Amino acid sequence: MGVRFAPVPVRPTFAQIDADALMHNLRALAERTSHGQVLAVVKADGYGHGAVRAGRAFIEAGAWGLAVALLEEAVELREAGVLEPILVLGGVYPGYEDLALRHDLSMVVWEPEQCERLAAARRRPGGRAARVHLKLDSGMGRLGVRPEAFQAMLERADLREATDGKLEGILTHLACADDEEDPVSEGQLDLFERACEQLSQAGFEATRRHAANSAGTLRYARSHYDLVRPGLALYGVSPTPGAASDLALRPAMRVISRIAGLRTMPAGQGISYGHLTHLRRETRVAIVPFGYEDGFPRRASAHAQVLIQGRRCRVLGAITMDTTLVDVTDLEVVRVGEPVVLLGDDPSHATAQPITVAELARWSGLILHEVLCGISPRVPRT
Ligand SMILES: *Cc1c(COP(=O)(O)O)cnc(C)c1O
Repeated sequence: MGVRFAPVPVRPTFAQIDADALMHNLRALAERTSHGQVLAVVKADGYGHGAVRAGRAFIEAGAWGLAVALLEEAVELREAGVLEPILVLGGVYPGYEDLALRHDLSMVVWEPEQCERLAAARRRPGGRAARVHLKLDSGMGRLGVRPEAFQAMLERADLREATDGKLEGILTHLACADDEEDPVSEGQLDLFERACEQLSQAGFEATRRHAANSAGTLRYARSHYDLVRPGLALYGVSPTPGAASDLALRPAMRVISRIAGLRTMPAGQGISYGHLTHLRRETRVAIVPFGYEDGFPRRASAHAQVLIQGRRCRVLGAITMDTTLVDVTDLEVVRVGEPVVLLGDDPSHATAQPITVAELARWSGLILHEVLCGISPRVPRT
């Protein structure tokens, strides 16, 4: 008779993903445009929500397609059965053109060498025309053809050969759309519109034009063109305070744990690494199995709060790799095993103020994207 083991014990720390919220956000952003066409960005594992799970929710809610940063992220989605267009924002690595064509991926192109390699792949047995989105660098200074080089790009024979003279899209990326005073975006859009004219004058068939990230989608109707390309806002986080207040975006991730232990410590005791805090009173301390390795930013230590019983409780001392200490002295009865909300709302206390991504960003000095993408893969998604 074989030995039977108990199931592997699992730490009670989870990220709960709300697919309804993802779908709601997709529809809300689509309604914000006149055309309703959304290219949903699911890079960085769907901003930590799970790329396949999030991608399926967005497609079910009507997304035109999905965008990722990396070729391997696109392959993961195809292998999970996604049939809609998938755009590789970071371009295809040299030597992997055949793989991209085989998976029928759309790719962002901005360098002559990319055209050469795609034309060569087209010529090989089994090769076919690539789905190309040509990128203009209108001011981001990152990826994209510079405006002064755009005409020459359009005249390249290998671009035509690689695409059969049909571009699936043309895009640019806004650098400052989430600045309250944004002196840059309008000029970027002027350059983009000029490039779109050049494109049609060069005889390329009508293509999808896209420029708007979340901030552009919410703040600049002019940037909506044929498709919008939001990430952050789809996950329920507004890129600027107030930009989406009328949309009622719904945060789609809740991070929740349980109190693993309780102890009472005397006044004056230094606590956690570096003794950043000395207890000012006799303190009931809850031990929470969630740390910076899970994505609770260590730099938030001095300011961070969590929700227990719907009440805000302060973190004590430094957040450590796997564990955070919390002051629960002001709660009346506290038990080991009680839920602790680290991000999001408290499901059993609807009136409690949720812990928001914006708060965590403020407490830690990180940007919103970093907080959301920072919830580590070792926290199981449910
Ligand atoms: C990440 C990214 C987006 C989405 O940006 P958000 O600020 O998350 O909306 C759109 N376009 C490109 C090219 C990106 O890299």
